[in-house]
Amino acid sequence: MLDINKIRKDFPILNRTVNGKPLVYFDNAATSQTPQQVIDVIVDYYSNYNANIHRGVHTLSQEATDKYEDARHIIQQHFNAEKAHEIIFTSGTTHSINLVANGFASLIKKGDELIVSALEHHSNIVPWQMLCEKTGATLKVIPMTLEGELDMEAYANLLSNKTKLVFVNHISNALGTINPIKTIIDQAHKFGAAVLIDGAQACPHIKPDVQALNVDFYVTSAHKICGPTGVGMLYGKEEWLTKMQPYQGGGEMIDQVTFEKTTYAGLPHKFEAGTPNICGGIAFGAALNYMNAIGFDKIAGYEHELLEYGTKKLKEIEGLKIYGTSKNKTSVISFNLEGIHPYDVGTLLDKMGIAVRTGHHCAQPIMDFYKIPGTIRASFAFYNSKTEIDALVAGVKKAKMMLS
Ligand SMILES: *Cc1c(COP(=O)(O)O)cnc(C)c1O
Repeated sequence: MLDINKIRKDFPILNRTVNGKPLVYFDNAATSQTPQQVIDVIVDYYSNYNANIHRGVHTLSQEATDKYEDARHIIQQHFNAEKAHEIIFTSGTTHSINLVANGFASLIKKGDELIVSALEHHSNIVPWQMLCEKTGATLKVIPMTLEGELDMEAYANLLSNKTKLVFVNHISNALGTINPIKTIIDQAHKFGAAVLIDGAQACPHIKPDVQALNVDFYVTSAHKICGPTGVGMLYGKEEWLTKMQPYQGGGEMIDQVTFEKTTYAGLPHKFEAGTPNICGGIAFGAALNYMNAIGFDKIAGYEHELLEYGTKKLKEIEGLKIYGTSKNKTSVISFNLEGIHPYDVGTLLDKMGIAVRTGHHCAQPIMDFYKIPGTIRASFAFYNSKTEIDALVAGVKKAKMMLS
């Protein structure tokens, strides 16, 4: 079992108060908090070996390069990628998806079909719409059910020899649904289509194995896994990364530059133009080490307990409706109070020191499906407690009384 009191001591921010009340942080699906072990790595970088990487002969540059490449190996091992150069550092999930969408521009033609799901974050919709505009390809949508699950029968019917790419999230950030990605990947491969999985919401809870999944691309952000903002990764199978055009041109990504012709560097540098977030990359590795030391099985088990407890307690409130009721979900509870705008509830909860997200959660199509303007979303991490859930439940009851 998790030693929750010990774990909470790792997160300095959990000691602060908000509006005179102890902070209850339930916005983990937007970004996670940072443990002291990761903060220390960031301070150490800027205090002791801040330098640009891959070019300097001097000691600091070599130390920074070694630590940065060590982080790439930590990420490779974490996701079980076959090769380190299949891990591309990016600024996050959004950047990773744009990189693939642009890299595919020369591989997609008019009449090709791309498949997205109704459960996606805007960052896994818009870059593909841009790709379709550029190429004349068509975007097809896997519909969702009332429970917030993907309609897998409809998916099977959408697939054809015209399908070139399928992109779905591993876990929905708005509802918490865990999608059957292994089935999605296997079925797409029967038609020769490549699959990109948006793992931004899954990686805080699950340790994905990209080889076992046989996925073509897997993307995530460090800031939802106890790491800093502005850094993330793209895993891509070597054969795809080799075929894809580089996304951005600049330093670091070249082999030879002349005004007549430039040749590109090999993987992973071909996709890493410019000075990257060096400190962020190193801290990303430290964050994965921190979470692995606790153990993803333990994390998932404890979070499931929090989900069941929170769901049971919130359901007892009259007029409260939960959106996303799949049996396969992570510790995200999206809900509304009958006749009350989610924003008003969120504002009152903040007055009580409770941080939740309100709105469409960058997933407007899901809100349109339920015909609601948004939800109140409480998302739990492994450092949250049942006592905090009790505070949320009391807060929601109070907000309901004040607003109705
Ligand atoms: C957070 C999130 C994103 C976007 O991540 P960024 O770090 O903002 O690029 C994309 N998809 C899902 C499912 C998310 O939860």
